[in-house]
Amino acid sequence: MSMPNTFNLKAIKFRLSRFRLTNKHTLTLAYLVLLLLPFVVAESLGMLFEGMYNRVLSALNLSAMMAFFVQFPLAGRLRHVPLFANIDWSIAKHKKIGKYLGVFFFLHPLLIVAPKMLLSFDALSTSIISMITSPQLLTGLIAWVVMAVWVLMSVYKDKLNMRYETWRLWHVIGLVAIATLATLHITTVGSHGQYNQEFNVIWWSLYTLSMMIVIYNYFIKPRIIQRQPFTITSIEKVSPCDWQLTIESKSKQRFAFEAGQFAWINTSGSAYNLEQHPFSIASVQNNAAQLSFIIRELGDYTSSLNQLEIGQTVFVDGPYGSMSLDQSRTSQGITLIAGGAGIAPMMSLLRGLARQNDTRPIRLIYGNRSLERMVCLDELEALEKRMANVQLQLVCQQLENAKDTLRPYVRQGLIGKSEIDASFTAGQQQNWAVYLCGPTAMIDATTTHLKQLGLASSQVHFEQLAY
Ligand SMILES: Cc1cc2nc3c(=O)[nH]c(=O)nc-3n(C[C@H](O)[C@H](O)[C@H](O)COP(=O)(O)OP(=O)(O)OC[C@H]3O[C@@H](n4cnc5c(N)ncnc54)[C@H](O)[C@@H]3O)c2cc1C
Repeated sequence: MSMPNTFNLKAIKFRLSRFRLTNKHTLTLAYLVLLLLPFVVAESLGMLFEGMYNRVLSALNLSAMMAFFVQFPLAGRLRHVPLFANIDWSIAKHKKIGKYLGVFFFLHPLLIVAPKMLLSFDALSTSIISMITSPQLLTGLIAWVVMAVWVLMSVYKDKLNMRYETWRLWHVIGLVAIATLATLHITTVGSHGQYNQEFNVIWWSLYTLSMMIVIYNYFIKPRIIQRQPFTITSIEKVSPCDWQLTIESKSKQRFAFEAGQFAWINTSGSAYNLEQHPFSIASVQNNAAQLSFIIRELGDYTSSLNQLEIGQTVFVDGPYGSMSLDQSRTSQGITLIAGGAGIAPMMSLLRGLARQNDTRPIRLIYGNRSLERMVCLDELEALEKRMANVQLQLVCQQLENAKDTLRPYVRQGLIGKSEIDASFTAGQQQNWAVYLCGPTAMIDATTTHLKQLGLASSQVHFEQLAY
């Protein structure tokens, strides 16, 4: 009987010994501390009701309201504010917390009236009627309904017959309305409202900060971006479904970025236009102030790239993203894994490694449906020959028309555990870094393989091609 316990203890000890405090852990910790602040202030001012149930409910309500306000900077593309600068972490948190908040706000009135249910039906119905009829409570009720609709609109975003930009505009309008109504509600009712005016300063300050972030993103930032325009220097089709777009700063001012990062680009002609798309930068930092992108035709915008013209103005918001070569500075080897359009940041990382004449073992596993969809193959072959220790592994389902020179690099199928395992020097995977970019399903499958192969999350750096 003692075997499983010993085994579990060993497994826990092993997991603990492999645990490394990553940047994402630190961010999550700081985020949680931030959420608890209103509760700590309320507790220290002695503002909480007596009784275990009320205290726990207060802690949850205050933290949820704080989490709601923090949703604004999380989605605010604030690359100069330390807690929110890691946009991959920020957007992932924003989406995840948004769903939890939706559930919590839905339960909020029910949790308040729950104890009355235990008292009597009369107490319950009086409580519900006062909730619906009192003007202070009405603001909360409207916010509650709007919140429910808006959370559903976010969860089912891809199922709505709506352009991404239209959805984004309505998302912001709805959240501004919810923030206004919820702040009015929280500052006029309950233990944190009419009885404690000083505490309202906190909520109005958070409300003001949230609105400032919206104003910054939609009115001030476009003004700044408009002053640093780029121009298209080349646009060419590099596969039956991929384009390579190269742009150059009109002022020839250096655009500082790390290999592996991405930027939002806007080719509408107006920096204020909401049609902006995120694309990974495929090039490396250069003095010509040029950026190049590899773009796959996937929807309305990406299928109309043939309409872009040389000399056309492009506005760039960035750089963003936490992937960089710095993350693998001390690793003994590097595996780059790209699925489809995920080749763009991998090209940037590989070009960066080539520029610094890196002699470590570097493996690129590049998956696509067919060989003709693979891009930059000539350059990849040349890099394999020129660099000290680079190996290329192409993986695709259809092998028709494979050039003879490419045959040795190609394997039929999907990127699987065996290709990934074979990329590491035997038994050394715990000293390697893995970079990963591709569609969400591929990222999920590959991170599972990597976990099974014994890699810690601190060794794996990825970018998903969707928010
Ligand atoms: C960090 C990041 C880096 C990316 N890098 C590349 C790259 O290097 N090469 C490449 O080909 N693709 C890349 N993508 C994907 C690319 O942004 C989308 O394919 C493109 O925006 C789709 O636009 P569409 O109008 O053609 O397609 P649609 O059919 O309108 O959209 C297809 C999908 O893209 C999402 N989407 C659409 N517009 C946006 C937007 N403005 N912001 C965020 N998501 C949006 C939609 O939710 C939808 O799920 C990247 C995405 C992200 C998030």
